[in-house]
Amino acid sequence: MGKKKKAKEKKGKKKPRKTKPSKKWELYEIVEGKVKRKNKTCPKCGSGVFMAKHKDRWACGKCGYTEFIREAKK
Ligand SMILES: [Zn+2]
Repeated sequence: MGKKKKAKEKKGKKKPRKTKPSKKWELYEIVEGKVKRKNKTCPKCGSGVFMAKHKDRWACGKCGYTEFIREAKK
């Protein structure tokens, strides 16, 4: 155990970014020939803007609108 493998050079040039492809199409669902949106849409931005679902809330990435999810229990 003598030689160490060369560590990858760290230069601030390019950071490997793992950008996930937009999965907007997955937000749609065709039900009985009609397009059904899975996610909520932002009431401020209109029907074209989806809100991101979080654990306890919906959030719009465009305008920052947040809607808390109330549990339907009780
Ligand atoms: Zn919005």
